[in-house]
Amino acid sequence: NRVAHGQVEEYRVQKAEAALDKNFLPHIGRTDQSRKDKAFFLGEMASRAIELQLGRRKTDDKDHFKNKRLRLAGPLLADLFRVAFRNLTRDIKYQLERIGVKGPIITVSVAVRPGIVTERFQHALATGNWGRGRVGVTQLLDRTNHISTLSHLRRLQSPLSRSQPNFEARDLHATHWGRLCPNETPEGSNCGLVKNLALSACISVGINPEKIKQLLFSSGVAPVLEASENLRLSGAKVFVDGNIVGYCDSPQELAREFREKRRRGEISTEVNVAYFSKTQGEREELYVNCDEGRVRRPLIIVENGTPKLQREHLDKISSGEWSWEDLVKNGIVEYLDAEEEENAYVALTPEEVSPERTHVEIATYTTLGICSSTIPYAEHNQSPRNSYQAAMAKQALGIYATNFQQRVDSRSHILHYPQVPIVETALMATMGYKLRPSGQNYVVAVLSFEGYNMEDALVFNKASIERGLGRSTFFRIYEAECRQYLGGLKDKFTLPEAGTRGYRGEQYYRLLEPDGIIGLEAGVAGGDVLIGRISPPRFLEEYKEFEVKGPSMRDTSVDMRPSETGIVDAVFITESGEGSKLVKVRVRDQRVPELGDKFASRHGQKGVIGLIVPQEDMPFTEDGIVPDVIVNPHAIPSRMTVGQFIESLAGKVASMRGKPVDGTPFSNETPRELRKALVKLGFSNTGSEVFYSGVTGQKFVADVYVGVIHYQKLHHMVADKIHARARGQVQMLTRQPTEGRARGGGLRFGEMERDCLIGHGAAMLLRDRLLEESDKYTLYICETCGHIAYFDMKQRKYVCKLCEDKAKISPVIVSYAFKLLLQELMSLCISPKLKLKEKA
Ligand SMILES: [Zn+2]
Repeated sequence: NRVAHGQVEEYRVQKAEAALDKNFLPHIGRTDQSRKDKAFFLGEMASRAIELQLGRRKTDDKDHFKNKRLRLAGPLLADLFRVAFRNLTRDIKYQLERIGVKGPIITVSVAVRPGIVTERFQHALATGNWGRGRVGVTQLLDRTNHISTLSHLRRLQSPLSRSQPNFEARDLHATHWGRLCPNETPEGSNCGLVKNLALSACISVGINPEKIKQLLFSSGVAPVLEASENLRLSGAKVFVDGNIVGYCDSPQELAREFREKRRRGEISTEVNVAYFSKTQGEREELYVNCDEGRVRRPLIIVENGTPKLQREHLDKISSGEWSWEDLVKNGIVEYLDAEEEENAYVALTPEEVSPERTHVEIATYTTLGICSSTIPYAEHNQSPRNSYQAAMAKQALGIYATNFQQRVDSRSHILHYPQVPIVETALMATMGYKLRPSGQNYVVAVLSFEGYNMEDALVFNKASIERGLGRSTFFRIYEAECRQYLGGLKDKFTLPEAGTRGYRGEQYYRLLEPDGIIGLEAGVAGGDVLIGRISPPRFLEEYKEFEVKGPSMRDTSVDMRPSETGIVDAVFITESGEGSKLVKVRVRDQRVPELGDKFASRHGQKGVIGLIVPQEDMPFTEDGIVPDVIVNPHAIPSRMTVGQFIESLAGKVASMRGKPVDGTPFSNETPRELRKALVKLGFSNTGSEVFYSGVTGQKFVADVYVGVIHYQKLHHMVADKIHARARGQVQMLTRQPTEGRARGGGLRFGEMERDCLIGHGAAMLLRDRLLEESDKYTLYICETCGHIAYFDMKQRKYVCKLCEDKAKISPVIVSYAFKLLLQELMSLCISPKLKLKEKA
């Protein structure tokens, strides 16, 4: 009754039908032909609700992965295009109407305004804003290192709000096995909402469901409309992509037949079929899925107790005769979605295969994600440590791209001497990590050292650093473009002359060459100009003032960030998309490890350098081995990173025998084997060794655990963070010191710090910090009325408009922010008054 109220009956019915066709369950169809399908769908929904209420059906699990679909670039772009194209057609219609009013239509092309679709796409891709509140759809690809790039490409974002708890949605679900990495997720608000695909996971692209429906009908499924009364009441329901299509007598038989056809290649491998017996609900059900966005994983098919993958197939693959696709095509490996996996009984290892099993796992470590699979001996660690490492692997410096010399990333780090981990995992080669590693193998001793490795700090060997350990280079790109403005005015790259508006002073331009661009290999520091540029005035008024002299130019040169130094590494001169001249300058800065730089092992053990010790003062072993790093033993017990100990043992074995150790999670050289190998190499099987003090030469009473561990240098470096301020800029509005390092800001003296000083009774210090050294201001107040007085230039004194000659005006020292508050209150039509009293 709500549709088109008060209109003719006929029209209202038409409107309502149109609404049902177009807006109700649009995924089934948007024409009047699909009305019956919609009715069935609605009926199915109702029947499920009733069955649930009567206790004949279990509730659906909304976190089960069969109920989830991923939206990939294709469908997302299709969404965007649909909206943009609708706008375009609407605009064409509007334009045609406008032209039609004016006169005859000449050509249709006049009505088509170009760029509507393009602009929409460019805007959405640049901002990640997909409309309807969907933000962050596009992100800037993480290029910290190779692993972080790969991991970013396999990241999933849940649309759930991060401010709500949604505990179940954040939990790891049994159906995540093999689809999502159990370890790799951020900590904090996004925990469990941002996920990463497991290595074996693959996403369906979907095929046309009509073909599948026809196939079902021809193999004994009675369509909904044609089914007999009997079948409708007792038969199994058959669903395709969630819509009921018919009934059948022998669903299990049908499912089996269907799977066999798929393995023979008669049906697309994209299709998955799942049979549910009466345990789930009142009726047997058969689900056939062929839609896009299902996360699927490959498994080896087991028939009659033997895996289908045999030696001969592996030989064919290693000889290059077969590829992965051939395994899928020949029905040796198949992809299962979470729904079909409910029908499977998967063996973890080939040894577990028995006649009841339907599939066997390809490799257990494929259930891990990109980051977790680089952790050696991950199965020996406490799980959160693996999660921490998964997060830190993305911050480690390495070689993010081998063509970094030619690249112009706005900021990037390169580790000087990256090393392939000596304790590797099987997946490193597959992912290309060995070609672009991010870390080095350090000799690590577990020992406390003069208290300088308390609280996770690390003691570094000075000689190691001088040999290039942990050395990296930071690159930053500065760019400037010669823009063209309305009225034919242009920017110009040049050496700005003294007297230009905004001229910074001669010393800042000293490194520029006559073309206004800095020379290569010039040492630059904060504030130095890299690209000299002058621009025409921003407003036309500026013209008039200088009419006699002609248009005055502004200096819009690009300078170094105030807190950075470096050497000009490369200069690129090119053209921008709009055809104007574009200059990019790359500045490099070598970063030698220093006190406070952050390092981490691959087991979530992070720390900063606490002391750099000359080699001669470092403890050493009987063989004269001096460790590169000394970590504190207290870092171990509570964290339970046993994997780090095993990596240490393995690293020692690998370095002594000259062959890397395989530390792949779940299938590796076992610690037992490593101990044996150590003994063979002439070491103690415990991994400990006798140490001598570097200072006194005395033998340590206890043996020291020492081995080789792959350490990562993380991109948090002191050089980027160190900051202090004496005096400097203030904010215009509040006159308080600016915030942040980039603006030379102050260090915040916050509420809790303030409370602390109050607690100590240090009132004068508090006053100094919060008033004298901040935004002290003298306010003139009329004592009679309590309002702010102002200075009158004619009378050369402070006056009060309200009290005039009765006014008694006194200066009051307040914070400028307080004055601002008073004036803001006044702007809200509130009259704040200050009642003054003599100082007691
Ligand atoms: Zn007054």
